[in-house]
Amino acid sequence: MDFRSTPEEEAFRKEINEFLDKELPPGWLGIDPGPEEESRPEVFELAAKMWRKFGEKNWIGVTWPKEYGGRGESLWKEMVLLQELAYRGSPGMDLAIAQADLLLHFGTEEQKKQYVVPITRGEVKWAIGMSEPNAGTDTFNVQLKAVEEADCYVLNGQKIWTSGGHNAKYAMTYTRTDPTNKHLGLSVFIVDLKSPGITMRRIEQATGIPAFDEVFFDNVKVPKENMLGKKNGGWEILLYAFGAERTYGLYTIYNAKRYLEQLVQFCKETRDPHDVPLSHDPLIRSRLAQLAIDIEVGMNMGHELNWMASKNMPTVKPSAQIKVHGGTLCQRVGNVGQQILGLYGPLEEDSKWVKLGGRIRHTYISALSFTIAGGTTETSKNHIAGRFGLGLPKQV
Ligand SMILES: Cc1cc2nc3c(=O)[nH]c(=O)nc-3n(C[C@H](O)[C@H](O)[C@H](O)COP(=O)(O)OP(=O)(O)OC[C@H]3O[C@@H](n4cnc5c(N)ncnc54)[C@H](O)[C@@H]3O)c2cc1C
Repeated sequence: MDFRSTPEEEAFRKEINEFLDKELPPGWLGIDPGPEEESRPEVFELAAKMWRKFGEKNWIGVTWPKEYGGRGESLWKEMVLLQELAYRGSPGMDLAIAQADLLLHFGTEEQKKQYVVPITRGEVKWAIGMSEPNAGTDTFNVQLKAVEEADCYVLNGQKIWTSGGHNAKYAMTYTRTDPTNKHLGLSVFIVDLKSPGITMRRIEQATGIPAFDEVFFDNVKVPKENMLGKKNGGWEILLYAFGAERTYGLYTIYNAKRYLEQLVQFCKETRDPHDVPLSHDPLIRSRLAQLAIDIEVGMNMGHELNWMASKNMPTVKPSAQIKVHGGTLCQRVGNVGQQILGLYGPLEEDSKWVKLGGRIRHTYISALSFTIAGGTTETSKNHIAGRFGLGLPKQV
C-alpha cells in the first residue's frame, strides 16, 4: 500500500487551500463539522455562500457521473477535498451530498436529473429524516406511517434529531409501509419540507446551538413518484446509507489536527505566571505528543479505509474503528485543550479574555456528540466485535 498522493492530487490540495485562503474570513479558526452552520446566522450565511461556490468549482460530487453534474473522478480526489475542508474547519459541504449518493444508487432517471443536478450546483440543502424517539440505534424500528392512497402516500408521525431540517428544502425520509414486518416494512421518500401538514420544533444541543429539529407529520401527502427505490425496500437504502456515513470518523480526525496545531501554537506563544513558556512544561508536552500520535494513527487508518473503499473491499470494520477512534480523540483534544487553557478555558467567544476564539470550549462540548452522531461508539464496537471483525456471536 502506498498512500502518497499523486502529483495531480497534490495540485488539487493546493488549489483547495488557495481557494479557502481567499474565501474564508481572515483569521478563521474553523468550526466543528455540522451543527454551527445550521443555526448561527453568521456561519449559516458563510456556509450557504461556500456551498454555492463549491458548486461553481464543480467540487460537489467529485466521483459522481458527469451526466448528473459530477466530475466522474476518483474517490481519493474526493477524500482530498473533504479532508482539507475538515482540516480547515470550512462550513458549506451540505448533508445533501450523502443524499445524492442514495439518489444516484437507487433513484429513477427522473429523480437523478431533478434532484442530483441542483445539488451539484450548491443550490439546495437536504436533511436526513431517519431517527425517531424510539428508532435511533435500532433504526429498523421506524414508525412514521406512510399509507398508500390513489395518487399519493399519506405520512403521519414524527422524526427527531433532524440536523438542519429548518434550512433544508427536502428530507430523505424513512417511513413504515408494512407494520407487520420490522425489517422488510420500510420505504423511503423524498419529502418537500414545505409540504402542508409538516411542522418543526428546534432542539438545542449541549453547546446551546439549536441545530436539530423535531419534525411532525400530520396527514402529509407525498406524491408516489417521490418514493426512492421500491415499496418496502427501505432496508437496502438504510444499509447503504450507513455505509455512506463511513467517512465521518475520518473528518473528526482532521478536525482534531486543526485544534492540536492551534494548541501547539498557543503553548509556544504563552508564558505561565513564572514567565516560562507553556511549551516547556513536561506535562503539556507529553499530552500534546500523545494527541499527535493518536492523530497520526487516525490518519493512517483513514488512508487504509480510503484505499479499501477504492478497491471495493468491505469497509464495515475499518469505518467503525475510525468512527470510535476519531470521536474519542476529539473528546481528548477538548479535554487537553481545557487543561492547557485553565481558567480561560470555559470563557465564551464574546469574552474579552477569551483565548483561541473560544473554539476549545466549543469543541470540548460539541465533541460529546461525535460518539453519537452517525452511529454510537457502542454500535461501532459491536460491529468490530461481530462478524465483520472479531467474529464474536451476535449480541442477544
Ligand atoms: C450531532 C448529531 C446529529 C444528528 N443528526 C441526525 C440527522 O440529521 N438525522 C437523523 O435521522 N438522526 C440524526 N442524529 C441522531 C443519531 O443518528 C442518533 O442519536 C443515534 O443513532 C443514536 O440513537 P439515539 O439517540 O436514539 O440513542 P439510543 O439508540 O437510544 O442509544 C442510547 C445509548 O444506548 C446504547 N445502545 C443502544 N443500543 C445498544 C446495543 N444494542 N448495544 C449496546 N449499546 C446500545 C447507545 O450506544 C447509546 O449509548 C444525530 C445525532 C447527533 C448527536
